[in-house]
Amino acid sequence: MKGHFPINKFKGLTTPFYYYDTQILRETLALIREESSKYHYHIHYAVKANANPGILSIIREYGLGADCVSGGEIQAALAAGFPADKIVFAGVGKADWEIKVGLDSDIFCFNVESIPEVVIIDELAGARGKIANIALRINPEVDAHTHHYITTGLKENKFGINLSQLDEVLDVVSGLSHIRLIGIHFHIGSQITDLTAFQAACSRMTEVQEHFNRRNIFVENINFGGGLGIDYQNPNDHPVPDFAAYFAIFNKYFQAQPGQAIHFEPGRSVVGQCGSLISSVLYVKEGSSKKFAILDAGFTELIRPALYDAYHAIENISSDEDGDVYDVVGPICESSDCFGKEVTLNKVSRGNLVALRSAGAYGEIMASQYNCRRLPVSYFSDLL
Ligand SMILES: *Cc1c(COP(=O)(O)O)cnc(C)c1O
Repeated sequence: MKGHFPINKFKGLTTPFYYYDTQILRETLALIREESSKYHYHIHYAVKANANPGILSIIREYGLGADCVSGGEIQAALAAGFPADKIVFAGVGKADWEIKVGLDSDIFCFNVESIPEVVIIDELAGARGKIANIALRINPEVDAHTHHYITTGLKENKFGINLSQLDEVLDVVSGLSHIRLIGIHFHIGSQITDLTAFQAACSRMTEVQEHFNRRNIFVENINFGGGLGIDYQNPNDHPVPDFAAYFAIFNKYFQAQPGQAIHFEPGRSVVGQCGSLISSVLYVKEGSSKKFAILDAGFTELIRPALYDAYHAIENISSDEDGDVYDVVGPICESSDCFGKEVTLNKVSRGNLVALRSAGAYGEIMASQYNCRRLPVSYFSDLL
């Protein structure tokens, strides 16, 4: 089954461009709101998945907070109207200016990833006469069973504080006067489709929390990060991820302590399915053994296939004629600039429009100007 695209409205638009189906985005956000409110969970959208101002403003309408990983993202979230007291700030390498942006805006919490970082936050907060809220990002050492580039919760990853260093961190934190420890944070990885990984995160969180409690430390906030995957194979069958099952796992396997708030930071699962990259076919080139469909989009617009070997469903949305098999490639001067090998598409000819599906997350935001290319523009279904 093909996606539904307003192909007539695409006529005359310069390709490549991102197309966002705001109805899918709104359905996703409505479901998140409905399912998370059953358990009074707090949701912070991970801005790094897509920081398009139009996308941010729709997400903010549904009352989500923002999870930021840079000073620029904090500024983008504030500009889109996210309240500062719903902004959390993670990242292994927060520069001083970025920490200052967070302090000066009075964000809700810094998710701290190392001992030297917490010392600097304390110092910069002290210089401003402020007290910074922090959560410790602990590396839970849980295998998310996903691509190794997007696994973040293993011992060898650069992210978070290792379990073996918990006591050392707690000793340092207890000696600092300009920070307040308010939470524990995990983020085990991305594109997680096996929900048992989240169950493992719940058990590990319980252990870490008990360790804190034995030292007489009680935190008001537990943050499980993001990571819920989407169905890249069948975007039409699953346009909205199963947030009911996702939140139910945490409700079942994590016992919150009285007064504790539980937080999540979904990115991909919020915006992934609402976006497609629309590109024109420039040439159909017949090689000795195969046919290439050469698009005017390349990894400069969508880098996930080149970067992570990621799969995106590809459709020729201009043609109904029976298909053939093509390698779908871009114009960039790198062999990795390939969107799919041996893809069956409706018969392709020059000028056809091709949709690269499920491109709403880590698509437009990762675009580059390599080869001096223009950055892609975007259109929203309700504004076309
Ligand atoms: C990337 C990231 C997220 C979002 O991950 P998704 O897989 O897109 O849901 C959440 N929290 C942190 C700290 C991140 O780095």
